[in-house]
Parts: sequence; C-alpha cells; structure tokens
Amino acid sequence: MLKIDMHSHIIPKIMPNWTSKFGYGKFIHLEHNTDGTADMMQGGQFFRKIEENCWDEKVRIPEYEKFNTQVQVVCTIPVMFSYWAKSQDCTELSEFLNDHIADLVLRFPKNYIGLGTVPMQDAEAAIRELERIKSIGLVGIQIGSNINDENLSEDKFFPIFQACERLGLAVMIHPWQMMGFDNMKKYWLPWLVGMPAETSRAACSLIFGGVLERLPELRVCFSHAGGSFLPTLGRVEHGFNCRPDLVAVDNKRNPREYVGKFWVDCITHDIDALNYILKMQGSKRVCLGSDYPFPLGDLEIGKFIEESSLSQEVKEDIFCHSTLEWLKLDKSRFS
Ligand SMILES: [Zn+2]
Repeated sequence: MLKIDMHSHIIPKIMPNWTSKFGYGKFIHLEHNTDGTADMMQGGQFFRKIEENCWDEKVRIPEYEKFNTQVQVVCTIPVMFSYWAKSQDCTELSEFLNDHIADLVLRFPKNYIGLGTVPMQDAEAAIRELERIKSIGLVGIQIGSNINDENLSEDKFFPIFQACERLGLAVMIHPWQMMGFDNMKKYWLPWLVGMPAETSRAACSLIFGGVLERLPELRVCFSHAGGSFLPTLGRVEHGFNCRPDLVAVDNKRNPREYVGKFWVDCITHDIDALNYILKMQGSKRVCLGSDYPFPLGDLEIGKFIEESSLSQEVKEDIFCHSTLEWLKLDKSRFS
C-alpha cells in the first residue's frame, strides 16, 4: 500500500548565517558539530539540537522504509518562517528554502513532495513567491497559525489565500509562536497546550472570518488533527448559536458545516482520538502525518493505524488517498 507522510520537516544542511548577512534579528542558522549533529542557532543563542535526518535526504528515505512509507511531503521548520523580518529579507530566505526543497523533489520525485514558505507579512511579496513556487514544482505552502500574532482572518492575508486558490496550491497550517508561550514555559506547555490551541485559533479564524466560505476551492490542511478545534467543536458551535453577536459577525454559516471540507493529519498518538476525528471528518479528509523527525511526532509513521482494526479502505484513505486529493496529485506518479 502506498504510504505518503504529508507532515514532515526538513532544512538545508548548509545555509548562510542570516543574522550576520542581514545585520539584525534572530534568524536561524546551523552550526555543525563533530558528532554529526547540528545546533540550530537563533541569532547567537542555542535553540535546538538536530540530527542528520533533519537535512540528509538519503538518511531519511531508509528511515521511512522501516515503516513502509515511500513518500514524504516536506516543508521547512516553522521557526524558519521569519515573518517578523523585513519583507525583502524574509523573501530571500523563503526563496532559499523553497529552492532547496524544489531541488530535492527534482532529484527524488518518487520520494519527496514539497511545500514552500512565503513572506506572509507582505501579501504582494508572498503572492510573487507563490507564483514562483508553482513554477519550480512545489504543490503548496506551509504557513503559521498566526502571523506576528495576527489572526489569519485579517483582511491583509486574504489576497494570499485567494492566490493559493487561483494557483491551485494547497495550504498546510502549522502551529507556531504559541499563545501564552512566555507564561507557561515549564513542562513543555507551549508544545502540549499552546500548539493545539493555536491550530484551533487558525481554524476558527478561517471559518468565522469567512475565508473558507469565500474560497470554496481552497484546499487547507490543519496540523495535529486540527489541534483542539474538532474536540471542542460542540463548544465552538454552541458559542456561535448563543452569542451570534460576538461570533457570527463576519460569517453566518454554522462552523460545523465546514467539518469534512478541510483536511487534517492523523497525529493524535491515540487510536480513540483518531476514531473520533475520522467520524467527524470522514476518512477522505484525514491524512497520514508524522511531524518527523521531531520527538513529539509519530516517528513510527502511522504504525498505530496499521495495527488498528480500521478497515483496509479507511487505512488506504489515510495513508495516501486523502493526501493525493489535498495536493491534487496522481497516484501513478509514485508507482
Ligand atoms: Zn510539524
């Protein structure tokens, strides 16, 4: 059975020191260590240690083969977004990252599919990069759950979503710059509590802001099974019904009507939670995702689904059909 992991991250092994190059800010660059690992540096400060499976495509392919997975959809690591930077610098960085992924896809077309990144802080520059992304063979973009703490429903972002729809580029929403980060650093809470809330924030913003309503052909996928959005949908819908003066101000349609129109990945680490997500979304709107190569991801690439009692048909939807439909790709490309 074809297995496509639609949620994995990659970074170029060699990158400029962007902070030195641009002369400000806390951009990420890599410092390689003698033991084969690398330190991700944010400005001059240590951010995270990563291993070669974060950049080496030839290490990744056999690691995926261990879990019968042939194809990886790759995108950058959200900390690379750099939406806070000057538009022209973020554009240059985005081009560098997008070219790296496009080259990877060209060299390994049966193993890699690419999503790009764009300077969301500048709609005109973002749209120019979207057009370029399309021309170099990427099939969509990954964006943050907020843009410099502004919700995705803000009018300034709408032309970018409109361009994605027009160009037929898919959109993956990834939590980042988590709300409450500074107030709950202990116990890894930004990742355990903030990330699911961020994804729900993005889903609520795109629904209540009428973005999904106005762009019915826009293909959006939310990370981590939609975060806390689907598990709290009853509350969200009740809020829409009991306080329309607060909630239904820009879109009169019940949020529940959008469920099953967007895609989510399957990263739940819990078969009961996945069953609930499947019941809501339908198996054609739940994609295999892993968050590889990071420790909070499902690094067995859907083994818990293979071992479950879900039908072969549902498993095949999750493992490939949902992602193929989200990215509008033909299965024959990978045979
Ligand atoms: Zn991720």
